[in-house]
Amino acid sequence: MTEDKPNRKKRDSHPSALHVVRGVEGGHDGLPGNSRKNTERKKPSAENHGLTTAQYIEGVLAGDRTILGKAITLIESNAPAHQNQAQDVLRELLPHTGCSLRVGITGIPGAGKSTFIETLGCRLTAQDHKVAVMAVDPSSSLTRGSILGDKTRMEQLSREPGAFIRPSPSGGTLGGVARKTRETMLVFEAAGYDVILVETIGVGQSEITVRSMVDFFLLILIAGGGDELQGLKRGVMEIADAVLINKVDGDNIKPARLAQTDYQRALHYLQPATRGWQTEAHLASSLTGYGIDDIWKVILKFREITGRNGEFDRRRREQSRDWLHTMLEERLKDLFYRHPNVEKKLPEIEQKVMNGRLPVTIAAWELLQTFEKE
Ligand code: GDP
Repeated sequence: MTEDKPNRKKRDSHPSALHVVRGVEGGHDGLPGNSRKNTERKKPSAENHGLTTAQYIEGVLAGDRTILGKAITLIESNAPAHQNQAQDVLRELLPHTGCSLRVGITGIPGAGKSTFIETLGCRLTAQDHKVAVMAVDPSSSLTRGSILGDKTRMEQLSREPGAFIRPSPSGGTLGGVARKTRETMLVFEAAGYDVILVETIGVGQSEITVRSMVDFFLLILIAGGGDELQGLKRGVMEIADAVLINKVDGDNIKPARLAQTDYQRALHYLQPATRGWQTEAHLASSLTGYGIDDIWKVILKFREITGRNGEFDRRRREQSRDWLHTMLEERLKDLFYRHPNVEKKLPEIEQKVMNGRLPVTIAAWELLQTFEKE
């Protein structure tokens, strides 16, 4: 994709993405760890994380990996002081965002997503692309770190200076994880990353969420997986811009070719996920590298065609609008349920509804009245 690369200065980068960045002081606990007082008392430095907003902005724009990591940690923090500073940083970075190709990758565990990302990612960095890898895993707060957090995965790619791998934030809810992932994506773009790969851990809603933040959505399957095994495949096939049958090597070659024919047929009956683009089934082996360059060419062709017919920009504009509404809905819901009078009244009204003593519509109206009055 060299021809699509934004015209940027060569950026300073650290040799290894495995460099672990400590979390911001006072983060994740609701305590302001970065108040004005703190920064005044201590001289801001890369060590104590008390970076000023200007330092975050300059560092990210210069492609400084350490500051980039810290900026992402700031975005992921739940502490109100960090969130405020993160928004200040994002506001300034916004004019420098949007210039990457955002690719979502989904598939059942074991389909070969991370092996695919490793193989493709290494080829792209070899072509001078800067590749950011993220994951959306709403269960990561339960499982204590997503699969991506496991350092044995993508070992080769994680050593590439042109790659940055970030495990899923543990936001608790999918909404929290989605917000953090979207904002992190913008920071990566401002730092000059021109290919962003977002892996979904294949469970239900997270696929729709990732679809809503990427330009191209790739579904990785394996031949002979069986429909039941591949779970939500049918629904996911409808939102995919390409299906990739992986592990096309050794004894798998023949079944994979048969599966490709089946998927091609199935895909032709589906409404395309993107207007003006026909989703097709492709073959690859992330292990041998077969088909990897071809699928990247498919992604580039998609970029070219949708760029020409306006779909690319239209989708991005709609995604921004939908994101605004999602954030508003989440915030309003939060305000409602945290309202002291609603909190007080809710258990009693719930009981009445459950006992059949109050119609649901009236119950909802009463609670909304309580909320609106204040
Ligand atoms: P993920 O859970 O979807 O991320 O899957 P992984 O990338 O972790 O791969 C699961 C297993 O499949 C690992 O043992 C990989 O080595 C193997 N695998 C991945 N891609 C291929 C491939 O193209 N061919 C073969 N034969 N094995 C593969």
